[in-house]
Amino acid sequence: MRVVVDQYLCGTTGQCVLTLPGTFRQREPDGVAEVCVATVPQALHAAVRLAASQCPVAAIRVIESDAGDDERASADTAPSPAEAERHAAKDRRKPGGHDGTV
Ligand code: SF4
Repeated sequence: MRVVVDQYLCGTTGQCVLTLPGTFRQREPDGVAEVCVATVPQALHAAVRLAASQCPVAAIRVIESDAGDDERASADTAPSPAEAERHAAKDRRKPGGHDGTV
């Protein structure tokens, strides 16, 4: 199993990080959640499904297969300059939001 976070949907609540701190983390400085494992260990599959179902903005997507999907987990990539600018624009639209401190 793999899991990905849509970084444009994430509302930076930190709920997934509190639930599974070894699987999710919040990026500084904006608090957007990232996945910090390439694959989810079997023992955590149920917990990851629960975290995905509890995300208030449905930003967490579970990929049941470990292979055959060309999506990459958010931990695999660093944000491009264009992505960073989109996040900065999002932050400007949401002043006073979560500061992302972990
Ligand atoms: S629970 Fe959802 S909205 Fe909250 S930090 Fe995690 S991915 Fe983002």
